[in-house]
Amino acid sequence: MKVEFRKVPNVPKEFKVCVNSVNFLGTFSRISNKLVRIDSQITGIHPIECYKCGKDLTLNIDEKHVFTVSDGVFDSLNEREGEIIIELDNHIVNFEDILNSELESISSEYHTCEDCNTNDEFVDIEI
Ligand SMILES: [Zn+2]
Repeated sequence: MKVEFRKVPNVPKEFKVCVNSVNFLGTFSRISNKLVRIDSQITGIHPIECYKCGKDLTLNIDEKHVFTVSDGVFDSLNEREGEIIIELDNHIVNFEDILNSELESISSEYHTCEDCNTNDEFVDIEI
């Protein structure tokens, strides 16, 4: 699903996209000339790997995120904590792209399988 930046309405509008087994849904609306806000929920099953042994795992995702989409370069002076900023260079809000980049960042976090979890040893920290 793609929406031209200038056509984003001021009143929140619903969207829903699905990539593989992951749903990305919520509302989006314009908050200023250059900014669009997306209130979203990401749910579904996403394949990942254990970062220790490489075993295939599935991750149940159920997260809520607020994205701020900037038409062009975002002025970081306006940044608020916890906000996820997305800068557009083509004036098109592409919901699949936003979901894919979010899934990439979820995949890049450290996930361990049950075996590696239980084998975890505490490391003594020298003082
Ligand atoms: Zn493992």
